[in-house]
Amino acid sequence: MKNVQFLITLYAIAVMAACTTTQPDYTVIKGATLFDGSGSEPVSNSILVIQGNRIICTGSLEECEIPENSEVLDMAGKYVTPGLVDAHVHFFQTGFFDSRPDGLDITETYPFAEVVAYQQLNPQRYFDAYLCSGITAVYDVGGMSWSVGLQEAAELNPNAPHVAASGPLLTPAQGAPFDLPSDKVLVPLNSKEDGIKTVQYLSALGSTGIKFWQIRSGDEEYMSRVEAAADEIRRQGNQMIVHATQLEQAKAALRNGTTLLVHSVSDQEVDDEFIQLALENGTIYNPTLIVSSGYMLAYRAAADIEPFEIHDPNHCVDEKTRELMETAPQFREHSLFSGSLVERFQNFDPETDRVNETDVLNLLKVYEAGIPIAVGTDAGNPGTLHGISIYDELEAMQQAGIPAMDLIVMATKNGALAMQRFDDFGTLEAGKLANLIILEEDPSEDIANMRSLLHVMIKGNLR
Ligand SMILES: [Zn+2]
Repeated sequence: MKNVQFLITLYAIAVMAACTTTQPDYTVIKGATLFDGSGSEPVSNSILVIQGNRIICTGSLEECEIPENSEVLDMAGKYVTPGLVDAHVHFFQTGFFDSRPDGLDITETYPFAEVVAYQQLNPQRYFDAYLCSGITAVYDVGGMSWSVGLQEAAELNPNAPHVAASGPLLTPAQGAPFDLPSDKVLVPLNSKEDGIKTVQYLSALGSTGIKFWQIRSGDEEYMSRVEAAADEIRRQGNQMIVHATQLEQAKAALRNGTTLLVHSVSDQEVDDEFIQLALENGTIYNPTLIVSSGYMLAYRAAADIEPFEIHDPNHCVDEKTRELMETAPQFREHSLFSGSLVERFQNFDPETDRVNETDVLNLLKVYEAGIPIAVGTDAGNPGTLHGISIYDELEAMQQAGIPAMDLIVMATKNGALAMQRFDDFGTLEAGKLANLIILEEDPSEDIANMRSLLHVMIKGNLR
């Protein structure tokens, strides 16, 4: 009996405690300097009111009232921006050659089929790496068809960034070494029918965009296949993405309605016609300045010339990736490193050869012409690691001459536009999802201050 009374008393205490510690209805971020992602002047001593996963008010102290029953986070002296968007990644790729046997065949050690199956089953390590790096949305612009399924999985996962994915790519290439008999990254565009069916299939799967990997711009017959596919993309209400590193390819892509150009035009300076076409289409330009030299860094590591350096003070890179990069010199005896190529790897200077001069020139021309630019790393390619690579890309763009204030917009709003998710995120305004980052240092003074990350909020959850 005594025991029962004791239990009743305990229960009463527990109920009282539960009643007095109700969950707050709102989260308020108070006092920080706010960059809303639109490019407008920052708001000092700002207020951001969040209810559930949405922002309900943002602005100055006069503009937003702190509601009752709020959890107030004092962020005076800190800086808030929207969560970063990496508008160019590949989930099937690991950051090393095990997922790119076309670059260095190490399939004896790492069977490609197993590598890709692992990638499909384990995206969480990259989700964590992205969030840890302040990235709250990513665009996978090329992978196997399973990558399209990541969109919904990530949307429903509170610990994942938002994902958009295009799925397999249409290409003139035949029999790529990184295709499996059962699943493809590259779909050879051998007929109009191939293109139309691929567009219909991927669009029905829910792909965000249909990507072309190179287009044979000088070949009329081939271009008629591209046109047929482009027509179908319009019919499906999807968007056309093109990997074009040559000016003629890029212009042919634009004439067919491309709204997202990935990679810089690298062979020559862009001309007025290119700029005109891009402006008419409202095309977004994604320069990927550092990915090519990333390959060189990965080759140098594999050839045992220089270890691959991972600058990762926040420990965002997962163990498996870390090990992959650390054990790269096990391939020093690879036949690729016994030939004349090795000299190129030795002569590469990580300080001075990180970006291509034509890429820089064209980035500035595109910027000055007012073509919207999105930040994307091409993460997953050898030497370009998921998550942390965004800092290197941003810093390379800044060094190329893009002001930090504009880079904030390119890494937030423009990325969301490229992903076709601007209604949901990309700027900090009432009605949008609460995806934001809090920084110790001012990112508009130096974009490298994006590295001074303190907190990440994804879908209203603070990490
Ligand atoms: Zn890519």
